[in-house]
Amino acid sequence: MKRVVIIGGGFAGINLAKNLAANDGFSIIVVDRNNYNFFPPLLYQVSTAFLEASSICYPYRKLFGPSPKIAFRIGELVKISPGENKILLSTGELDYDILVLATGTQTNYFGIENVKINAMPMKTFEDALNLRNHLLQNLEKAAITGDPGERNRLLTVVVAGAGPTGIEISGMLAEINRKVITREYPEVANGQFEAKIYLVDGVSTVLATMGEASQKYTLKSLIRMGIEVKLGVQVKEYLDKKVILSDGEVIETETLVWAAGVSASAFIGIPIEWYGKGKRLIVDEFNKIKGAANIYAIGDTCILTSDKLYPNGHPQMAQPAIQQGANLAKNLILLANNGVPKPFKYADKGSMAIIGKYKAVVEMAKPRMNMNGFFAWFIWLFVHLRSLINVRNKLKTFANWVGTLTTRDQSLRFIIRPGRKL
Ligand SMILES: Cc1cc2nc3c(=O)[nH]c(=O)nc-3n(C[C@H](O)[C@H](O)[C@H](O)COP(=O)(O)OP(=O)(O)OC[C@H]3O[C@@H](n4cnc5c(N)ncnc54)[C@H](O)[C@@H]3O)c2cc1C
Repeated sequence: MKRVVIIGGGFAGINLAKNLAANDGFSIIVVDRNNYNFFPPLLYQVSTAFLEASSICYPYRKLFGPSPKIAFRIGELVKISPGENKILLSTGELDYDILVLATGTQTNYFGIENVKINAMPMKTFEDALNLRNHLLQNLEKAAITGDPGERNRLLTVVVAGAGPTGIEISGMLAEINRKVITREYPEVANGQFEAKIYLVDGVSTVLATMGEASQKYTLKSLIRMGIEVKLGVQVKEYLDKKVILSDGEVIETETLVWAAGVSASAFIGIPIEWYGKGKRLIVDEFNKIKGAANIYAIGDTCILTSDKLYPNGHPQMAQPAIQQGANLAKNLILLANNGVPKPFKYADKGSMAIIGKYKAVVEMAKPRMNMNGFFAWFIWLFVHLRSLINVRNKLKTFANWVGTLTTRDQSLRFIIRPGRKL
């Protein structure tokens, strides 16, 4: 049996492993730095205490069950030795016949060290829980302080990056300001305060990868929700609780949410010429890394430019990762049976973003159709619910949403952190 080692159990890695396991010719090992898979599109709801954390994650060992075909190994990839077919993990060594890198991306701070140290990223499950605790702690601090300047600083949030994640977080924060503070924090609501939300982006539009109609609708909705949208402006620094923007404006805040960009990871042992733009590994139409004999890359971490419709690579989204995982599984099975592999062809299913309650934008690919408002919001909920990893997570998320919608509230605002809470 060929030993396939897959690094990363996200959308790409899981789809590869599951499809490959249907064939008897492989022994599969999934390696991940976490012992659980999670669903990034709903992280923002966990980070704003609208969704139970356990609704969007699931342990790998339970996911693979007692299957003898897929083994799980916890560990972080440290080094690859392509000549020896060996990898070094933080937890030991592994040999492989075929290695697949499906390691996704990490937060890109564009070299701004003080932002990296002081901002709150929104990429991992830990990031979401950290942000949730931070926001709740700040609300409690705002309820105690007698200093109006400090209160405003605690309640003001700057979100960097007006892509889907930045929009979603800003929308949820506006909801918290409108509903939670007035209902649950009388000390704050009855006093003088300015809980401002700023959404900042260096480009001149929100949702830069979507069409003009979606962009206009989103911008109008955000402004109506009380969010101050600053476009064509970059965050330059975040020091001493002050966000400094490229137009010179200084915003005093205890929270800068960083949703401004991602880049792939570089690993020791990989020749520099294997990397393309954004540290993405350059692959051919079969997802094999150019220059490697038996190493593949799938999902966000790779760049495939041979698809004529996507000369700059596919969008770093769930669908290309899912489809590349499934296609690579088919090809590895074909190759093992002396078949001819099939080049990857991306089937675009469109894109969408949620802005707030009853507000979303959806751009469908087939049939080509744009929607916004209530119907788009409903489609967004349906698609995301359907995409969760298993029935348990679908039911939990559905129950959470129904609860929130019927009671118009959520009761998940727990500060859970070791040690003193404030
Ligand atoms: C907040 C947020 C919201 C998003 N919303 C959407 C959305 O609504 N729709 C959409 O299509 N896309 C969305 N995306 C993008 C989407 O999540 C990614 O495109 C998708 O997850 C890529 O899949 P992947 O398998 O390549 O990587 P990932 O899903 O990121 O999986 C990578 C895996 O590799 C593991 N890993 C990384 N490095 C190492 C290492 N060195 N050693 C061991 N393991 C490692 C990680 O733990 C992770 O499990 C969102 C992303 C974020 C962060």
